[in-house]
Amino acid sequence: MTNETAPADDLRTVMLIGAHPDDPEFGCAATVAKWAQEGRQIEYVLLTSGDKGSHDPVVRPGQIAARREEEQRAAAQELGVRAVKFLNYPDGMLENTMDLRRHICGIIRRHKPDILLAIDPWRRYQLHPDHRVAGQVAIDAVYAAREWYIFPEQLGDEEPWRVKEIYLYWTDSPDFWVDVTESIETRIAALARHSSQLRGNNDERAERIRKMARETGEPHGYAYAEGFKRITLR
Ligand SMILES: [Zn+2]
Repeated sequence: MTNETAPADDLRTVMLIGAHPDDPEFGCAATVAKWAQEGRQIEYVLLTSGDKGSHDPVVRPGQIAARREEEQRAAAQELGVRAVKFLNYPDGMLENTMDLRRHICGIIRRHKPDILLAIDPWRRYQLHPDHRVAGQVAIDAVYAAREWYIFPEQLGDEEPWRVKEIYLYWTDSPDFWVDVTESIETRIAALARHSSQLRGNNDERAERIRKMARETGEPHGYAYAEGFKRITLR
């Protein structure tokens, strides 16, 4: 267990990579809100726009994607996220190809995040293939971005970029806990923006999120916490 409770102050820029709109809010958005409040600059990169995220066969993928992008932007705004980038890969069909790695690597080299938030691709029994791929490609792209001889055609006037720390969310091996007592309600409000994806009672969902964060926080002395697997690359 680490005694640290926050990334170093000089790590100012954060990139969160997810597979779908709502992954950040179901994953670790109370931490996002807290870090934004601390003045860190946070950007989302979403590989798909969740265009298969409807159980209604009459709704076409293009329609649902537009709605989900709008919901994601509203949620991000609620949290203080500066920018949301949609890469528009097809929902449900992500593959960890060299082309996708190159694409993400290029974005990392241009945007220069100090911290990367990514889905833990090694979580046991992670059934959603997009979630496994989004986590894996994010980590693979961090590695590629560091090297002169990987995708050298991207470098131009820029040097390789070294992400300093990776925090994996949706992990079953957490070793870093963020006290989100002050921001758990902001996460719940942001999650509520994804109304096309939410079924059931809002109060019950809010209580489920609080319960999870309470159970994560209690052993570490926090009212509410989110847990991460932290990987330090420096
Ligand atoms: Zn997802």
